[in-house]
Order: sequence, then structure tokens, then C-alpha cells
Amino acid sequence: MGAASFVLAINVFVAGLFAITFMVLAWRGRSRVPLWFGLTYLVASLYVVSEFILPFQGDPRLTYSIGFSLFHLSLAAAVAGIAERYRKAIPWELLAALVVLGIASGAISYDFERGSFARMMLYQAPFAAMHIAIAIMILTSRRIDRLDMVLAGLMVMGALQYLSKPFVATFTGGAGTSPQDYIATTYALYSQTMGTIVALTTGLMLLLILVRDMLVEITLRSETDALSGLYNRRGFDAHASALLDAAQRTGVPTAMVVADLDHFKSINDTHGHEAGDRVIEWFGAVLRGTASDRWVVGRMGGEEFAIFLSGANLTTARLFAESVRSAMAGLMPETLPDTLRVTASFGVSEGDGETSLADLRRRADAALYRAKSQGRDRVATAVAAPAVVPEANAEPTPTIKLRQA
Ligand code: GH3
Ligand code: MG
Ligand code: MG
Repeated sequence: MGAASFVLAINVFVAGLFAITFMVLAWRGRSRVPLWFGLTYLVASLYVVSEFILPFQGDPRLTYSIGFSLFHLSLAAAVAGIAERYRKAIPWELLAALVVLGIASGAISYDFERGSFARMMLYQAPFAAMHIAIAIMILTSRRIDRLDMVLAGLMVMGALQYLSKPFVATFTGGAGTSPQDYIATTYALYSQTMGTIVALTTGLMLLLILVRDMLVEITLRSETDALSGLYNRRGFDAHASALLDAAQRTGVPTAMVVADLDHFKSINDTHGHEAGDRVIEWFGAVLRGTASDRWVVGRMGGEEFAIFLSGANLTTARLFAESVRSAMAGLMPETLPDTLRVTASFGVSEGDGETSLADLRRRADAALYRAKSQGRDRVATAVAAPAVVPEANAEPTPTIKLRQA
């Protein structure tokens, strides 16, 4: 077996392996994206198989045509997968046009002199066009990060690689005068090796992007409260800490509001647990609708909520809590009983540039406790902690070490 045939065999293996990997991912998940990529590699592996049998054909025209048509269909599946991954409509018309043009161009190339520059360009340019289409789709989508940029870069390099082939063939002594010759040329070795590298690097990058997507989704799910759609305690702590750090670095004021629904137990007892759940959902929506997008809103458990405000002082935080109270006095959703009136109590605290999240929370909780004891349905603000001046000869206060969570 010649060197190029050997690389061709590796190529079949690589494409087959990625086809299986993406199919398994598709089977395990709900997204159609890995299915498209699985299809890409499955059809691409059939194309490589067609290259294998080409030298053994008396009249290779049919196998040649089936081969490049398969490769165009494979790339079309990749475009569809990329469109779905980057939340764009699959450009069916553009895809159909590219596939038809590609197949026509490949078919016309067959009648050109074998190994000529024009024949090779006619054959390769449509593959480059598909790669460029993919790169454009990635780069024009919103919210892309470094991995997506790398994939787009790989697509551009893939396109350049196809366009380089006619030049490489010219400089390395041609692509052979028959399929039998082709497989023995230096050009065939170059072409097959580049094909394998492109298939391998692109496959790995697509896989990495899908795994990254899954991790992002799992993290989001582990930080979200299913009932209210707000952050749960874990999500609240993670996002509020990050925002607090950033605020303290830049000297931006911070504040915290904690809220607890009043007499919630009796709402459950009177209207049922189901109605209680609807109240929690509704209250979550009121909080989200009233809070700024920059703030962190969480359900800390049961009917207790917390809002971390960045770029807000005590007054802004208190006004925010008051607007939530007013919003609650407005229309109740139709899913809740007419007779139901829901109120909440609020505690508000403000940071001083060094206050920890736990301190902010403790002070807001103390204020909330006062709001409850003063009759509920009100907002209470935390008073600034009095400065503690240690007495000259006082015994050192034993400190309680808290275990780091
Ligand atoms: P207060 O005004 O002092 O806050 O009184 P309360 O009745 O609201 O407070 P309490 O802590 O005594 O009761 C909270 C209730 O919230 C008890 C619990 O059954 C209910 N609860 C906690 N989580 C959920 C939930 O997810 N759904 C429903 N429907 N009820 C919940
Ligand atoms: Mg309560
Ligand atoms: Mg409570």
C-alpha cells in the first residue's frame, strides 16, 4: 500500500470515529446539532471510501461524481449543524445553491485535462466556498468566545487549504494522469494528509464546543431554581460574589435586599400547596421585572429571596424594595384565587467597600426581622454597625472559627 493510500485509510478511520462520537452525543442529548455533525462525518467517510475504490474502476466517472457529491452533502450537513448551534435559520436556499454549483463544477471539471490547474480549481473551489460560508455564520452570530473564533479560523484555513491544492499539484509534479497514477503522487500524499488534518482538528474543535455547551448548560441548571426561574442559593452566592468583587475593585456601591413572603404558611393552608407554588413563581417574576438586569436575584429557599444590587446605595435599594411592594399590590395573575392578597417584608443593607456578602446578608436579615416584628408588609433598612472600641485591658474575645463552605 502506498503512503497516500495509507493516509486515506487513516482518514476513513478518523471520519468514522467522529461519526460515531457525534451520533452517540446526539443519542444522549436533545439537541440536533451533534446529529448534523455525525451526519457530516458519516457522509464524509463514505466519500473517502469512494476515493479508495476509484483506482480500481475502469471508467471512474460515476464513482468520481458520487464521491465529490457526497463530500458536498457532508459539508452541507456541517453548515446546517453550525446554523443550529449558532442559533441561525438553516440557509436551505444557499445550501442547495452551493451543493448544486459544487456538483456541477465537479462534473464539468471531469472533462478538463486531468491534473490541469483549471480542473483542480473547478473541483476544489466549491469546497472552499462551503468552509467560508461556515466561518461567516460563526463570526456573524452574537455571543461567540475564543473557541468559536478558533473554529472559524480553522474553517478559513480549511478553505485556504482547498485553494492551495492546484498550486501544490503544479509545484510537486502534478496529480497524475489517471486515478491509478494519482495515488502514487506526492500531491496525493499532501492532499490526503491535509484532508486528515482538517477532519481531525475540525472534529476535535466541534466536539470541544459541544462539550463546552453541555458544561455551560449543566452549570446553569445547577444554579437555577426550577420553580421561580431565579438563581438558587448556589447560583446567587456565585454570581453575587463575583459582582461584589468587581464592585469593590472599582469602588462601586453595593446593597442587598432580602424578602420573605408574609404568612406564607397560611396561604398554603388556605389555598393549597399548588397555589403557594404559583405565588412563588409570580413573586419571582415581580422581582425579576422590577430589578435591573445587572443585579443578581435569587430564591434562597422556601419563600425567602435575596437581591444583590451593584451600583446602588441604601436609598436606591430601599426604593427598589418599595417598588416591589407596590407591584405586588397591583394585579394578581389569573392563575391565583381572587381572594388572595400576598404581601412581603423586606430588609435592606448597604456595603462599605469591604463588607463581605455574608455580612451584607446578615445585616439585611436583621432588618427583615425588624420589618416582620413591626407588622410585616414593609421595608426596613439596616442601621450601620456601631464601631466597636475595645477596652484597654479587656480579655481577648474568643473568636469562633467558621468552616469555609
Ligand atoms: P412569616 O410571615 O413570619 O414569614 O410567616 P410564614 O408563614 O411565611 O413563614 P414560615 O417560615 O412559618 O412558613 C414558610 C412556609 O413556606 C412553610 C413551608 O411549607 C412553605 N414553603 C416552603 N417552600 C415552599 C414551596 O416550594 N412551595 C410551597 N407551596 N410552600 C413552600
Ligand atoms: Mg414568610
Ligand atoms: Mg421564611
